[in-house]
Amino acid sequence: MAASLDLVVIGGGPGGYVAAIRAAQLGLSVACVDKRAALGGTCLNIGCIPSKALLRSSEKFAEARHALAQHGVKVAGVELDLAAMMARKSKVVDDLTKGIAFLFRKNKVAHVEGAAAVEKPGAVRVAAANGERRTLEAKHVLIATGSEVMPLPGVPIERRRLPSRNTCKGETQKSTRLPGAMRFTDGIAASMSNQRHMLFRNTPVPSATRPQP
Ligand SMILES: Cc1cc2nc3c(=O)[nH]c(=O)nc-3n(C[C@H](O)[C@H](O)[C@H](O)COP(=O)(O)OP(=O)(O)OC[C@H]3O[C@@H](n4cnc5c(N)ncnc54)[C@H](O)[C@@H]3O)c2cc1C
Repeated sequence: MAASLDLVVIGGGPGGYVAAIRAAQLGLSVACVDKRAALGGTCLNIGCIPSKALLRSSEKFAEARHALAQHGVKVAGVELDLAAMMARKSKVVDDLTKGIAFLFRKNKVAHVEGAAAVEKPGAVRVAAANGERRTLEAKHVLIATGSEVMPLPGVPIERRRLPSRNTCKGETQKSTRLPGAMRFTDGIAASMSNQRHMLFRNTPVPSATRPQP
């Protein structure tokens, strides 16, 4: 990586990685900093892609259990294997984030891992997870850091019945069991409630996860 760059992009989500690749294609020397190890930001790691991968699997389950019979296709013993569903989702995410890493290498965008802060014009300080610090110098800095969820006052996200945006990542499903009742925050609402509907329609909810009155 050059000692002084044309452009440092902070954030490797859809906003940042597309800009970084395009700038490199137009001839600039570019580095893209992200505090996540995997590129792709919210969209690829915890948002659009994992939620749609899970929706697709849920749709297959719902179709096998509820819709194929009317087409004259009989399927007996349809069961949900949530661990396998989550593993497939993780592979989809992994393949796509690696695809962006490949595009970075192909277009000579340097991927720098760490939390970035603009120190002064043209200087970006990066703190890596292992404690290492470095400063990147650049003619231009592009901030593409996305957004954070703002919790509602007095409504703590306790991550069981009230999942966070990390639900698709698997934080709620560590026990490979979906909660019986959920309330939803941020962009996850529509897709996760559709998914839950497809998985749990006519399915008894495990008693340990039934909503408390
Ligand atoms: C569950 C869910 C489902 C969604 N589904 C869809 C969908 O179907 N369709 C759709 O269009 N949108 C969807 N979205 C929204 C979509 O994910 C966002 O609009 C998109 O990711 C925004 O891209 P971005 O690059 O601006 O930010 P992000 O994707 O959030 O990327 C920002 C990146 O910046 C990094 N970063 C932040 N601060 C720093 C720092 N100081 N130093 C280094 N790195 C930093 C973060 O680690 C992150 O990787 C969904 C979101 C969620 C949560």
